[in-house]
Amino acid sequence: MKIAMIGTGYVGLVSGVCFSDFGHDVVCVDKLPEKIAQLENGEVPIYEPGLENLLAKNVGAGRLTFTTDICAAVHGADAIFIAVGTPTRRGDGHADLSYVMAAAEEVAKALTGYAVIVTKSTVPVGTNRKVAEVVAKANPAALFDVASNPEFLREGAAIDDFMKPDRVVVGVENARARDVMGEIYRPLYLRDFPVVYTDLESAEMIKYAANAFLATKISFINEIAALCERVGADVKSVARGMGLDGRIGPKFLHAGPGYGGSCFPKDTQALARIGQEHGVPLRITETVITVNDMTKRRMLDKIVDLCGGSVAGITIAVLGVTFKPETDDMREAPSLTIVPALIGAGAKVRVVDPHGRREGQVLLPGVMWCADPYDAADKADLLVILTEWNEFRALDLGKLAQTMQQPRLADLRNVYAAKDAHEAGFTAYAGVGR
Ligand code: NAD
Repeated sequence: MKIAMIGTGYVGLVSGVCFSDFGHDVVCVDKLPEKIAQLENGEVPIYEPGLENLLAKNVGAGRLTFTTDICAAVHGADAIFIAVGTPTRRGDGHADLSYVMAAAEEVAKALTGYAVIVTKSTVPVGTNRKVAEVVAKANPAALFDVASNPEFLREGAAIDDFMKPDRVVVGVENARARDVMGEIYRPLYLRDFPVVYTDLESAEMIKYAANAFLATKISFINEIAALCERVGADVKSVARGMGLDGRIGPKFLHAGPGYGGSCFPKDTQALARIGQEHGVPLRITETVITVNDMTKRRMLDKIVDLCGGSVAGITIAVLGVTFKPETDDMREAPSLTIVPALIGAGAKVRVVDPHGRREGQVLLPGVMWCADPYDAADKADLLVILTEWNEFRALDLGKLAQTMQQPRLADLRNVYAAKDAHEAGFTAYAGVGR
């Protein structure tokens, strides 16, 4: 199949590269010329494990190209995927669909023969029908169908998730579009991964419902963690005891500083707004959002308490600023709330992150970037683990405690045990929910 991928970000680039690896001819389009220039040079603008090699392999095989020219990409394509951003619209919490609609209009004008226009971006129910209207209006002669194909990949494990998905969801309205989508995902059938065919609205809803459910698990365990701290229970044991129940499952039950990233915050907001708009307030989702905000604030209180009531004048070493490990994405990362608040309260903040520095330098003004955790901890008064990168999981706690002015550890990802921290010389330790 010939595929045009509009939007070459975390989802578009990974999807484009993986489709080309399936054997399809893929042209990835972005409106940012600098991004396309980088990609043409074989450089990957984001950090995603394995992506650079897979990209080079498929460019080398002649199946994958990059352009800013949407007309050239759309010409002769069997399917055109829209994978542009759908951030929260300023002011009202709705998904901002302006990028999707602008892309749809550009695609419409470039269409020459029949193609399926596939929305991969996460979009509210009804958007695919609006895309169809926009296309028909911009190019009344266009021959096309629309399809909804929400993406479930996780940054940091994106290639594996794309190649070995739990399922693929495809919303289509007729056999012709279904055949095109079936052909695109045929390499997955061979490996027996399920494809759920449904109508457009259900496909759109599946994505929001799935993300809101996962966010609910996180907020749930974070609330239980707060209670564990009061009653003397350990949330790690509680989560393990819960998660071994097959009906519950162990994933997304890690207590921490609250969810962040490019999806859960905006998608829960958007779903809550959709519910309100349709007269069906989604109380659970609304509460999940509130609990997440409270969780981030609770982390600040925890840090301040650990420092005896104030962080004014002290030096804090923060390990990790990306919203999770194995990505450079900092969108809605808890660090964006916690670090500025610490600086605002008078602390000096040093930061280490294996891949977060490029974004972090822009988003976290006023911090000092350090080469490694030991460098950051040198004469510091508090060490905070904010993102559980592998690099931070087997630190020499004794060496850290020795180098610090005041050896205190706020372990917001529960990487270490209090006992081990104390034995290594830390005078104060705080985890989450224990
Ligand atoms: P992103 O911001 O990383 O990438 C979007 C890209 O689209 C940018 O490079 C931008 O320049 C480009 N773009 C915007 N308008 C364009 C146009 N008219 N023509 C060409 N290029 C255009 O976004 P992302 O994280 O990849 O997310 C894309 C969508 O996928 C969102 O709806 C998101 O909710 C959804 N999603 C994201 C993830 C994730 O982990 N990031 C996972 C699942 C679903």
